[in-house]
Amino acid sequence: MQAGSVKYIFVTGGVMSGLGKGVVSSSIAKLLQLSNQKVSCVKIDPYLNYDAGTMNPIAHGEVFVTEDGGECDMDIGNYERFLNQNILKSHNITTAQIYSSVIEAERKGEYLGACVQIIPHVTDAIKERIRNIAKKEDLDVLVVECGGTVGDIESLPFLEALRQMRSEDGPENVVFVHVTLAPSLDVVGEQKTKPTQHSVQELRRIGIQPDLLAVRCTHQLEMAAKKKISLFSNVSVKDVFSCHDAESILTVPQMLYDQGIIDIIFKKFGKVGLVNTSANWDKWNSIVNSFAVINQTVKIAMVGKYVKLADSYVSVNQALKHAGAKIGKNIMIDWIDSEELNGNIDKLSSYQGILVPGGFGDRGSEGIIKTANYAREKNIPYLGICFGFQLAAVAFGRYVCGLSNANSTEISPNTENPVIDLLPEQKTIENKGGSLRLGSNEIKVEDNTLAFKLYKSNTILKRHRHRYEFNQKYLDAFTNKGMIFSGYSDNKKRMEILEIPTHRFYLGVQFHPEFNSRPGFPEASFEAFVNAAAHA
Ligand code: GLN
Repeated sequence: MQAGSVKYIFVTGGVMSGLGKGVVSSSIAKLLQLSNQKVSCVKIDPYLNYDAGTMNPIAHGEVFVTEDGGECDMDIGNYERFLNQNILKSHNITTAQIYSSVIEAERKGEYLGACVQIIPHVTDAIKERIRNIAKKEDLDVLVVECGGTVGDIESLPFLEALRQMRSEDGPENVVFVHVTLAPSLDVVGEQKTKPTQHSVQELRRIGIQPDLLAVRCTHQLEMAAKKKISLFSNVSVKDVFSCHDAESILTVPQMLYDQGIIDIIFKKFGKVGLVNTSANWDKWNSIVNSFAVINQTVKIAMVGKYVKLADSYVSVNQALKHAGAKIGKNIMIDWIDSEELNGNIDKLSSYQGILVPGGFGDRGSEGIIKTANYAREKNIPYLGICFGFQLAAVAFGRYVCGLSNANSTEISPNTENPVIDLLPEQKTIENKGGSLRLGSNEIKVEDNTLAFKLYKSNTILKRHRHRYEFNQKYLDAFTNKGMIFSGYSDNKKRMEILEIPTHRFYLGVQFHPEFNSRPGFPEASFEAFVNAAAHA
């Protein structure tokens, strides 16, 4: 690449949401990384929420937590997993963040004399935010995915800013990729190009001519469809890419590579030929292949509240798969609504492992408490994450320590035995947004414990997202009955890991290990849990 000049790839979406813009963006970024480029990704979310923190995971998918405590769109998690690299919260840009910065600047008098407008003030703020990321992180290429669908009112200022960047930085530094759909009305049916034609027209109407098209389709995009799309969209045939259904999203980089996307991008950026990437490719391919050669299946019950949308727990699902691939096992996950478990708890006996992921609020909590107790009594491997840690403690309090009506004050504010209670610093907080204990914190791990066996270290860094914690008033009662707290933080102020040494595998973690798991590099607690389940 030219010294000193950052290259940008802007990914837009057409036709409808859910086409896999995130996977296309991550895959392109991965290919660039495999080509020895210093690359990262940004996600623009044009909605008015400041961040994803207060959004319902059933409607919007998981809230992904970054090392620096951002509550981000789940695409950030995709980028981290594809690139095997941490992404900072500044990489998730929302309308609220941009507008607040503009309004704040206006109040400070930074635009004195000017009438503050979307163009240029808002668009300038967007461009500055994007350019700062690239500059600060000294990137060769920054892939920026613009959420939403072209034609949405909310995304207009962002698309306008991206359009301006292309004319300011020049076509040799900016490539636009538009992700669209070519539906087939039945299995053998012809691939329809009209939705793509229209969405490209929409994009051109606002001044953006895409350089590349990534067309989602069930089967490989036929030449006839490619030609038609090319003709109507003013994109040459070789720049129209088929993104057909794949067994695994991890194979999408290869799919795009095989169609020549990397050469084409490098050429557009004024660079012919590629650096030798074979060593990088071999490593990546061996990871991708590890997901394909799996035979035996391990059945895991995932018991929680947000089970209706698989995306609600995408990082947990992925972390289980990473762990399975590492030990050559296929993981079958059944999502079980904890509300449906009352009176039906024996259903869990057919699973080799039980996982309770994070969660909030009262609904379904009794089912989770019973689940945690069932796993303990039946010696079924149990991994409790955050809420799953807390409710495992509640179950132990109730059924082992005999603490009547033990509960979390999140569920029962006046419980006589608040074994889980608000973090002291949370007691005065009123705003819900961005006010949990967030991001990476240091945890001390005790020697001679399961946790130490997994992490092989006395100090670990893990991401958090919670308001409640174990109430240390009950510490002796619990340890006397055989539960140990093998990890803690802030000089033992907070308990972070619980385990029952007499159990086959019973681990609760107050943090979110799933956010650190990557293909080829499963997080240690997931790997150990899946291993225990596979041998259960
Ligand atoms: N609701 C719990 C808390 O706020 C657990 C949060 C979570 O599982 N992420 O502490």
